[in-house]
Amino acid sequence: MEKAIFHHPRAKIQDYVPIVGRSAIEELRALAERLSGKVIQNINSTFTGGGVAEILTRMVPLLNQLGVDAQWTTITGHKDFFDVTKKFHNALHGRKEDISSEDFSVFLEVSKKNIEELRFGGDIIFIHDPQPVALIAKKKELGGKWIWRCHIDVSNPDNRVWEFLRDFVIEYDAAVFSAPNFSQQLPIRQFMISPSIDPLSDKNKELPSEIIDSVLNKYGLDKDKPIIAQISRFDYLKDPIGVIQAFEMVRKSIDCQLVLAGGTATDDPESEKVLEEVREQASGKSDIHILLIPPEGDIEINALQQAAAVILQKSIKEGFGLTVTEALWKGKPVVASAVGGIQLQVKNKLTGLLCHSVEGAAYAVKRLLSNKEYAAWIGKNAREHVRQNFLITRHLKDYLLLFISLYYPSDAIYL
Ligand code: UDP
Repeated sequence: MEKAIFHHPRAKIQDYVPIVGRSAIEELRALAERLSGKVIQNINSTFTGGGVAEILTRMVPLLNQLGVDAQWTTITGHKDFFDVTKKFHNALHGRKEDISSEDFSVFLEVSKKNIEELRFGGDIIFIHDPQPVALIAKKKELGGKWIWRCHIDVSNPDNRVWEFLRDFVIEYDAAVFSAPNFSQQLPIRQFMISPSIDPLSDKNKELPSEIIDSVLNKYGLDKDKPIIAQISRFDYLKDPIGVIQAFEMVRKSIDCQLVLAGGTATDDPESEKVLEEVREQASGKSDIHILLIPPEGDIEINALQQAAAVILQKSIKEGFGLTVTEALWKGKPVVASAVGGIQLQVKNKLTGLLCHSVEGAAYAVKRLLSNKEYAAWIGKNAREHVRQNFLITRHLKDYLLLFISLYYPSDAIYL
Protein backbone atom coordinates (compact mmCIF):
# COMPACT_ATOMS: atom_id res chain seq x y z
CA MET A 1 0.00 0.00 0.00
CA GLU A 2 1.27 3.44 -0.88
CA LYS A 3 0.12 6.89 -0.02
CA ALA A 4 0.15 9.80 -2.45
CA ILE A 5 2.65 12.56 -1.87
CA PHE A 6 2.26 15.77 -3.85
CA HIS A 7 5.62 17.37 -4.51
CA HIS A 8 4.63 20.16 -6.84
CA PRO A 9 3.15 23.50 -5.93
CA ARG A 10 -0.51 23.36 -6.83
CA ALA A 11 -2.90 25.93 -8.13
CA LYS A 12 -4.89 27.81 -5.51
CA ILE A 13 -8.65 27.52 -5.61
CA GLN A 14 -9.05 31.28 -6.12
CA ASP A 15 -6.86 31.05 -9.25
CA TYR A 16 -9.89 29.54 -10.98
CA VAL A 17 -11.99 32.70 -10.54
CA PRO A 18 -10.87 34.29 -13.84
CA ILE A 19 -11.78 31.10 -15.68
CA VAL A 20 -15.14 30.12 -14.17
CA GLY A 21 -16.27 33.17 -12.20
CA ARG A 22 -16.38 34.03 -8.50
CA SER A 23 -19.75 32.55 -7.66
CA ALA A 24 -18.73 29.08 -8.82
CA ILE A 25 -15.86 29.13 -6.34
CA GLU A 26 -17.97 30.50 -3.48
CA GLU A 27 -20.42 27.68 -4.05
CA LEU A 28 -17.62 25.14 -3.68
CA ARG A 29 -16.58 26.65 -0.36
CA ALA A 30 -20.15 26.52 0.94
CA LEU A 31 -20.53 22.87 -0.04
CA ALA A 32 -17.14 21.91 1.41
CA GLU A 33 -18.16 23.29 4.80
CA ARG A 34 -20.87 20.65 4.97
CA LEU A 35 -18.19 17.97 4.99
CA SER A 36 -16.07 19.30 7.80
CA GLY A 37 -14.76 16.54 10.02
CA LYS A 38 -15.25 13.85 7.37
CA VAL A 39 -12.35 11.98 5.82
CA ILE A 40 -12.67 10.92 2.18
CA GLN A 41 -10.31 8.12 1.22
CA ASN A 42 -9.79 7.58 -2.50
CA ILE A 43 -8.48 4.17 -3.48
CA ASN A 44 -7.32 3.11 -6.96
CA SER A 45 -4.50 1.06 -8.44
CA THR A 46 -1.89 3.51 -9.71
CA PHE A 47 -0.55 6.98 -9.04
CA THR A 48 0.59 7.50 -12.64
CA GLY A 49 -0.70 6.78 -16.12
CA GLY A 50 -4.22 6.97 -17.42
CA GLY A 51 -7.18 9.16 -16.72
CA VAL A 52 -8.01 8.14 -13.15
CA ALA A 53 -4.57 9.01 -11.77
CA GLU A 54 -4.65 12.19 -13.81
CA ILE A 55 -7.87 13.37 -12.17
CA LEU A 56 -6.97 12.33 -8.62
CA THR A 57 -3.64 14.16 -8.82
CA ARG A 58 -5.55 17.39 -9.28
CA MET A 59 -8.73 16.65 -7.34
CA VAL A 60 -7.25 15.58 -4.01
CA PRO A 61 -5.13 18.72 -3.36
CA LEU A 62 -8.03 21.00 -4.36
CA LEU A 63 -10.43 19.23 -2.02
CA ASN A 64 -7.82 19.68 0.72
CA GLN A 65 -7.62 23.40 -0.03
CA LEU A 66 -11.37 23.63 0.30
CA GLY A 67 -10.96 22.19 3.78
CA VAL A 68 -12.11 18.67 2.94
CA ASP A 69 -9.85 15.95 4.31
CA ALA A 70 -9.40 13.93 1.10
CA GLN A 71 -6.72 11.27 0.93
CA TRP A 72 -5.45 8.93 -1.77
CA THR A 73 -4.18 5.39 -1.36
CA THR A 74 -3.36 2.72 -3.94
CA ILE A 75 -3.74 -1.03 -3.70
CA THR A 76 -0.73 -3.17 -4.53
CA GLY A 77 -0.57 -6.19 -6.78
CA HIS A 78 1.93 -8.24 -8.76
CA LYS A 79 2.10 -8.60 -12.54
CA ASP A 80 -0.34 -11.54 -12.60
CA PHE A 81 -2.95 -9.43 -10.85
CA PHE A 82 -2.61 -6.55 -13.30
CA ASP A 83 -2.68 -9.00 -16.22
CA VAL A 84 -6.03 -10.19 -14.89
CA THR A 85 -7.43 -6.71 -14.27
CA LYS A 86 -6.35 -5.66 -17.75
CA LYS A 87 -8.28 -8.63 -19.14
CA PHE A 88 -11.27 -7.59 -17.01
CA HIS A 89 -10.94 -4.06 -18.38
CA ASN A 90 -10.95 -5.29 -21.99
CA ALA A 91 -13.80 -7.73 -21.31
CA LEU A 92 -15.90 -4.99 -19.70
CA HIS A 93 -15.41 -3.01 -22.89
CA GLY A 94 -16.86 -6.03 -24.71
CA ARG A 95 -13.61 -7.49 -26.04
CA LYS A 96 -13.30 -11.27 -26.15
CA GLU A 97 -10.81 -12.38 -23.50
CA ASP A 98 -9.69 -15.77 -22.32
CA ILE A 99 -10.38 -15.62 -18.60
CA SER A 100 -9.80 -18.74 -16.54
CA SER A 101 -11.07 -19.61 -13.07
CA GLU A 102 -7.43 -19.25 -12.00
CA ASP A 103 -7.66 -15.57 -13.07
CA PHE A 104 -10.64 -15.00 -10.80
CA SER A 105 -8.70 -16.65 -7.97
CA VAL A 106 -5.71 -14.36 -8.52
CA PHE A 107 -8.05 -11.37 -8.36
CA LEU A 108 -9.61 -12.59 -5.11
CA GLU A 109 -6.29 -13.47 -3.49
CA VAL A 110 -4.72 -10.09 -4.18
CA SER A 111 -7.91 -8.36 -3.04
CA LYS A 112 -7.78 -10.33 0.22
CA LYS A 113 -4.16 -9.34 0.77
CA ASN A 114 -5.02 -5.69 0.19
CA ILE A 115 -7.96 -5.93 2.57
CA GLU A 116 -5.56 -7.17 5.24
CA GLU A 117 -2.72 -4.76 4.57
CA LEU A 118 -4.29 -1.53 3.43
CA ARG A 119 -4.69 1.18 6.02
CA PHE A 120 -8.33 2.17 5.78
CA GLY A 121 -9.22 5.48 7.32
CA GLY A 122 -12.17 7.21 5.74
CA ASP A 123 -15.71 8.14 6.64
CA ILE A 124 -16.29 7.86 2.93
CA ILE A 125 -14.33 5.23 1.03
CA PHE A 126 -14.20 6.19 -2.62
CA ILE A 127 -13.14 3.22 -4.74
CA HIS A 128 -12.11 3.85 -8.35
CA ASP A 129 -12.61 1.27 -11.10
CA PRO A 130 -12.71 -2.53 -10.92
CA GLN A 131 -9.20 -3.28 -9.60
CA PRO A 132 -9.99 -2.45 -5.93
CA VAL A 133 -13.74 -3.21 -6.08
CA ALA A 134 -13.53 -6.24 -3.77
CA LEU A 135 -12.27 -4.12 -0.87
CA ILE A 136 -15.96 -3.65 -0.10
CA ALA A 137 -15.69 -6.82 1.99
CA LYS A 138 -14.19 -4.57 4.66
CA LYS A 139 -17.36 -2.50 4.94
CA LYS A 140 -19.01 -4.81 7.48
CA GLU A 141 -16.17 -4.28 9.90
CA LEU A 142 -15.46 -0.59 9.21
CA GLY A 143 -18.86 0.83 8.46
CA GLY A 144 -18.84 4.20 6.73
CA LYS A 145 -20.11 5.15 3.30
CA TRP A 146 -18.72 3.32 0.30
CA ILE A 147 -18.84 4.57 -3.29
CA TRP A 148 -17.78 2.72 -6.41
CA ARG A 149 -16.64 5.16 -9.07
CA CYS A 150 -16.67 3.44 -12.46
CA HIS A 151 -14.61 5.32 -15.04
CA ILE A 152 -15.26 2.93 -17.90
CA ASP A 153 -18.17 2.09 -20.14
CA VAL A 154 -19.74 -1.10 -18.77
CA SER A 155 -22.93 -0.93 -20.79
CA ASN A 156 -22.00 -3.84 -23.03
CA PRO A 157 -19.71 -6.07 -21.01
CA ASP A 158 -18.62 -9.66 -21.10
CA ASN A 159 -21.28 -11.02 -18.74
CA ARG A 160 -19.07 -13.42 -16.86
CA VAL A 161 -16.78 -10.62 -15.74
CA TRP A 162 -19.59 -8.17 -15.06
CA GLU A 163 -21.60 -10.68 -12.99
CA PHE A 164 -18.48 -11.44 -10.95
CA LEU A 165 -17.83 -7.75 -10.26
CA ARG A 166 -21.49 -6.94 -9.79
CA ASP A 167 -21.63 -9.05 -6.64
CA PHE A 168 -19.18 -6.59 -5.08
CA VAL A 169 -20.71 -3.46 -6.60
CA ILE A 170 -24.16 -4.05 -5.12
CA GLU A 171 -22.71 -3.93 -1.62
CA TYR A 172 -21.74 -0.29 -2.08
CA ASP A 173 -23.90 2.64 -0.99
CA ALA A 174 -23.68 4.24 -4.41
CA ALA A 175 -22.15 3.85 -7.85
CA VAL A 176 -20.96 6.66 -10.09
CA PHE A 177 -20.73 6.47 -13.87
CA SER A 178 -19.26 8.97 -16.33
CA ALA A 179 -22.21 9.00 -18.72
CA PRO A 180 -25.82 7.77 -18.57
CA ASN A 181 -25.25 5.18 -21.29
CA PHE A 182 -22.17 3.71 -19.56
CA SER A 183 -24.12 2.28 -16.67
CA GLN A 184 -25.85 -0.94 -15.66
CA GLN A 185 -29.05 -1.55 -13.76
CA LEU A 186 -28.12 -1.79 -10.10
CA PRO A 187 -30.12 -2.00 -6.88
CA ILE A 188 -28.07 0.84 -5.34
CA ARG A 189 -28.11 4.60 -5.83
CA GLN A 190 -26.44 5.75 -9.01
CA PHE A 191 -24.94 9.09 -9.95
CA MET A 192 -23.83 10.45 -13.29
CA ILE A 193 -20.71 12.56 -13.05
CA SER A 194 -18.53 13.28 -16.04
CA PRO A 195 -14.81 13.68 -15.48
CA SER A 196 -12.88 16.88 -16.03
CA ILE A 197 -9.56 18.50 -16.69
CA ASP A 198 -7.68 21.10 -14.72
CA PRO A 199 -7.07 24.23 -16.82
CA LEU A 200 -4.21 25.28 -14.54
CA SER A 201 -2.26 22.03 -14.59
CA ASP A 202 1.00 21.63 -16.49
CA LYS A 203 -0.96 19.49 -18.91
CA ASN A 204 -3.42 22.24 -19.79
CA LYS A 205 -2.06 25.68 -18.97
CA GLU A 206 -1.05 27.97 -21.81
CA LEU A 207 2.60 27.62 -22.74
CA PRO A 208 4.95 30.25 -24.13
CA SER A 209 5.87 29.56 -27.75
CA GLU A 210 9.56 29.06 -26.83
CA ILE A 211 8.63 26.04 -24.72
CA ILE A 212 6.47 24.58 -27.48
CA ASP A 213 9.29 25.10 -29.98
CA SER A 214 11.85 23.49 -27.71
CA VAL A 215 9.68 20.37 -27.34
CA LEU A 216 9.23 20.18 -31.13
CA ASN A 217 12.99 20.51 -31.47
CA LYS A 218 13.68 17.86 -28.90
CA TYR A 219 11.57 15.33 -30.79
CA GLY A 220 12.80 16.31 -34.26
CA LEU A 221 9.46 17.71 -35.43
CA ASP A 222 9.21 20.26 -38.20
CA LYS A 223 7.67 23.47 -36.89
CA ASP A 224 6.41 24.45 -40.33
CA LYS A 225 4.63 21.26 -41.28
CA PRO A 226 1.11 20.60 -39.91
CA ILE A 227 1.11 18.10 -37.06
CA ILE A 228 -1.59 15.50 -36.62
CA ALA A 229 -1.32 14.08 -33.12
CA GLN A 230 -2.85 11.31 -31.09
CA ILE A 231 -1.80 11.28 -27.44
CA SER A 232 -2.67 7.98 -25.79
CA ARG A 233 -1.34 5.02 -23.91
CA PHE A 234 -0.17 2.36 -26.37
CA ASP A 235 -3.29 0.24 -26.19
CA TYR A 236 -5.21 -1.67 -28.91
CA LEU A 237 -8.39 0.09 -27.88
CA LYS A 238 -6.82 3.43 -28.89
CA ASP A 239 -6.26 2.00 -32.41
CA PRO A 240 -2.76 3.41 -33.06
CA ILE A 241 -2.47 1.27 -36.20
CA GLY A 242 -5.69 2.81 -37.55
CA VAL A 243 -4.19 6.24 -36.86
CA ILE A 244 -1.15 5.41 -38.99
CA GLN A 245 -3.39 4.15 -41.78
CA ALA A 246 -5.51 7.31 -41.70
CA PHE A 247 -2.36 9.44 -41.71
CA GLU A 248 -1.07 7.68 -44.81
CA MET A 249 -4.31 8.48 -46.61
CA VAL A 250 -4.09 12.14 -45.64
CA ARG A 251 -0.47 12.29 -46.71
CA LYS A 252 -1.37 11.39 -50.26
CA SER A 253 -2.73 14.89 -50.76
CA ILE A 254 -1.42 17.04 -47.87
CA ASP A 255 2.13 17.29 -46.60
CA CYS A 256 1.98 16.78 -42.84
CA GLN A 257 3.52 14.81 -39.98
CA LEU A 258 2.10 12.39 -37.47
CA VAL A 259 2.82 12.27 -33.76
CA LEU A 260 1.77 9.22 -31.79
CA ALA A 261 2.75 10.05 -28.26
CA GLY A 262 2.14 7.96 -25.22
CA GLY A 263 3.57 6.36 -22.18
CA THR A 264 3.03 3.17 -20.33
CA ALA A 265 0.86 2.89 -17.23
CA THR A 266 2.07 0.74 -14.33
CA ASP A 267 -1.26 -1.09 -14.31
CA ASP A 268 -1.15 -1.87 -18.07
CA PRO A 269 1.14 -4.81 -18.91
CA GLU A 270 0.02 -4.95 -22.56
CA SER A 271 1.49 -1.65 -23.73
CA GLU A 272 5.00 -2.89 -24.62
CA LYS A 273 3.57 -5.30 -27.14
CA VAL A 274 1.34 -2.68 -28.71
CA LEU A 275 4.24 -0.25 -28.93
CA GLU A 276 6.32 -2.85 -30.74
CA GLU A 277 3.55 -3.40 -33.31
CA VAL A 278 3.16 0.33 -33.81
CA ARG A 279 6.89 0.72 -34.42
CA GLU A 280 6.78 -2.09 -36.94
CA GLN A 281 3.87 -0.53 -38.77
CA ALA A 282 5.66 2.83 -38.92
CA SER A 283 9.08 1.56 -39.85
CA GLY A 284 10.46 2.85 -43.10
CA LYS A 285 7.76 5.53 -43.35
CA SER A 286 8.76 9.15 -43.16
CA ASP A 287 7.14 11.80 -40.96
CA ILE A 288 5.73 9.37 -38.42
CA HIS A 289 7.00 10.15 -34.93
CA ILE A 290 6.39 7.64 -32.18
CA LEU A 291 7.23 9.28 -28.90
CA LEU A 292 7.49 7.67 -25.51
CA ILE A 293 6.70 10.35 -22.98
CA PRO A 294 7.69 9.77 -19.35
CA PRO A 295 5.01 10.10 -16.65
CA GLU A 296 6.42 13.47 -15.60
CA GLY A 297 6.14 14.74 -19.17
CA ASP A 298 2.97 16.80 -18.78
CA ILE A 299 4.51 19.94 -20.25
CA GLU A 300 5.67 17.95 -23.25
CA ILE A 301 2.21 16.47 -23.81
CA ASN A 302 0.73 19.92 -23.46
CA ALA A 303 3.23 21.35 -25.97
CA LEU A 304 2.49 18.61 -28.49
CA GLN A 305 -1.25 19.19 -28.14
CA GLN A 306 -0.83 22.94 -28.54
CA ALA A 307 1.45 22.52 -31.55
CA ALA A 308 -0.93 20.18 -33.37
CA ALA A 309 -3.02 21.34 -36.30
CA VAL A 310 -5.49 18.50 -35.70
CA ILE A 311 -5.84 16.12 -32.77
CA LEU A 312 -7.02 12.61 -33.50
CA GLN A 313 -8.55 10.16 -31.04
CA LYS A 314 -9.36 7.10 -33.07
CA SER A 315 -10.32 4.85 -30.15
CA ILE A 316 -12.23 1.65 -30.75
CA LYS A 317 -13.65 1.84 -27.23
CA GLU A 318 -13.22 4.68 -24.82
CA GLY A 319 -14.06 5.60 -21.27
CA PHE A 320 -14.61 9.31 -21.12
CA GLY A 321 -11.56 10.22 -23.18
CA LEU A 322 -9.67 12.90 -21.28
CA THR A 323 -7.21 13.41 -24.09
CA VAL A 324 -10.14 14.70 -26.12
CA THR A 325 -11.12 17.14 -23.36
CA GLU A 326 -7.54 18.37 -23.18
CA ALA A 327 -7.44 18.98 -26.92
CA LEU A 328 -10.84 20.71 -27.02
CA TRP A 329 -9.80 23.02 -24.18
CA LYS A 330 -6.75 24.04 -26.19
CA GLY A 331 -9.08 25.14 -28.98
CA LYS A 332 -7.91 22.39 -31.29
CA PRO A 333 -10.06 20.85 -34.00
CA VAL A 334 -10.51 17.23 -32.97
CA VAL A 335 -11.34 14.20 -35.08
CA ALA A 336 -12.50 11.37 -32.86
CA SER A 337 -14.36 8.08 -33.03
CA ALA A 338 -18.01 8.16 -32.06
CA VAL A 339 -17.50 5.92 -29.01
CA GLY A 340 -17.88 6.19 -25.24
CA GLY A 341 -17.66 9.60 -23.60
CA ILE A 342 -16.22 11.16 -26.73
CA GLN A 343 -19.81 11.62 -27.88
CA LEU A 344 -20.55 13.84 -24.88
CA GLN A 345 -17.64 16.02 -25.85
CA VAL A 346 -17.51 16.09 -29.61
CA LYS A 347 -20.79 17.35 -31.02
CA ASN A 348 -20.33 16.52 -34.66
CA LYS A 349 -19.52 19.52 -36.87
CA LEU A 350 -19.87 21.87 -33.92
CA THR A 351 -17.15 21.09 -31.37
CA GLY A 352 -15.22 18.61 -33.52
CA LEU A 353 -15.71 15.92 -36.14
CA LEU A 354 -16.78 12.38 -35.35
CA CYS A 355 -15.57 9.45 -37.43
CA HIS A 356 -16.49 5.79 -37.78
CA SER A 357 -13.64 4.37 -39.84
CA VAL A 358 -10.07 4.91 -40.98
CA GLU A 359 -11.37 6.46 -44.19
CA GLY A 360 -13.75 8.70 -42.26
CA ALA A 361 -10.93 9.85 -39.99
CA ALA A 362 -8.71 10.64 -42.97
CA TYR A 363 -11.50 12.56 -44.70
CA ALA A 364 -12.22 14.65 -41.59
CA VAL A 365 -8.55 15.44 -41.01
CA LYS A 366 -8.16 16.55 -44.62
CA ARG A 367 -11.19 18.76 -44.32
CA LEU A 368 -9.79 20.53 -41.27
CA LEU A 369 -6.29 20.89 -42.68
CA SER A 370 -7.56 22.41 -45.86
CA ASN A 371 -10.08 24.80 -44.32
CA LYS A 372 -8.36 26.80 -41.58
CA GLU A 373 -11.33 29.06 -40.88
CA TYR A 374 -13.64 26.12 -40.30
CA ALA A 375 -10.99 24.49 -38.09
CA ALA A 376 -10.63 27.69 -36.03
CA TRP A 377 -14.42 28.02 -35.61
CA ILE A 378 -14.71 24.43 -34.41
CA GLY A 379 -11.80 24.96 -32.04
CA LYS A 380 -13.44 28.03 -30.49
CA ASN A 381 -16.68 26.14 -29.87
CA ALA A 382 -14.72 23.25 -28.47
CA ARG A 383 -13.05 25.38 -25.80
CA GLU A 384 -16.37 26.90 -24.70
CA HIS A 385 -17.98 23.46 -24.47
CA VAL A 386 -15.23 22.37 -22.07
CA ARG A 387 -15.47 25.60 -20.04
CA GLN A 388 -19.18 24.99 -19.50
CA ASN A 389 -19.06 21.28 -18.79
CA PHE A 390 -15.72 19.61 -18.22
CA LEU A 391 -13.50 21.71 -15.97
CA ILE A 392 -12.41 20.51 -12.57
CA THR A 393 -14.49 23.11 -10.72
CA ARG A 394 -17.72 21.53 -12.03
CA HIS A 395 -16.35 18.13 -11.10
CA LEU A 396 -15.49 19.26 -7.57
CA LYS A 397 -19.02 20.53 -7.14
CA ASP A 398 -20.49 17.21 -8.28
CA TYR A 399 -18.25 15.24 -5.93
CA LEU A 400 -19.06 17.47 -2.97
CA LEU A 401 -22.78 17.06 -3.67
CA LEU A 402 -22.29 13.31 -4.00
CA PHE A 403 -20.51 13.05 -0.64
CA ILE A 404 -23.10 15.19 1.10
CA SER A 405 -26.00 13.30 -0.45
CA LEU A 406 -24.79 10.07 1.12
CA TYR A 407 -25.94 11.48 4.43
CA TYR A 408 -29.42 12.16 3.06
CA PRO A 409 -31.93 9.46 2.20
CA SER A 410 -32.80 10.98 -1.17
CA ASP A 411 -30.91 13.00 -3.76
CA ALA A 412 -32.60 16.23 -2.67
CA ILE A 413 -30.14 18.15 -0.52
CA TYR A 414 -31.24 21.19 1.42
CA LEU A 415 -28.39 23.56 2.12
N1 UDP B 1 -1.48 10.68 -20.81
C1 UDP B 1 -0.24 11.07 -20.39
N2 UDP B 1 0.84 10.53 -20.97
C2 UDP B 1 0.73 9.64 -21.97
C3 UDP B 1 -0.55 9.23 -22.41
C4 UDP B 1 -1.65 9.78 -21.80
O1 UDP B 1 -0.10 11.90 -19.50
O2 UDP B 1 1.76 9.19 -22.44
C5 UDP B 1 -2.62 11.28 -20.15
C6 UDP B 1 -3.53 12.03 -21.10
O3 UDP B 1 -3.02 13.34 -21.32
C7 UDP B 1 -4.83 11.98 -20.35
C8 UDP B 1 -4.78 10.62 -19.65
O4 UDP B 1 -3.40 10.27 -19.58
O5 UDP B 1 -4.87 12.99 -19.37
C9 UDP B 1 -5.53 9.56 -20.43
O6 UDP B 1 -6.86 9.60 -20.13
P1 UDP B 1 -7.96 9.08 -21.14
O7 UDP B 1 -9.28 9.23 -20.47
O8 UDP B 1 -7.81 9.78 -22.46
O9 UDP B 1 -7.60 7.56 -21.41
P2 UDP B 1 -7.23 6.31 -20.47
O10 UDP B 1 -5.73 6.24 -20.52
O11 UDP B 1 -7.74 6.58 -19.10
O12 UDP B 1 -7.88 5.17 -21.17
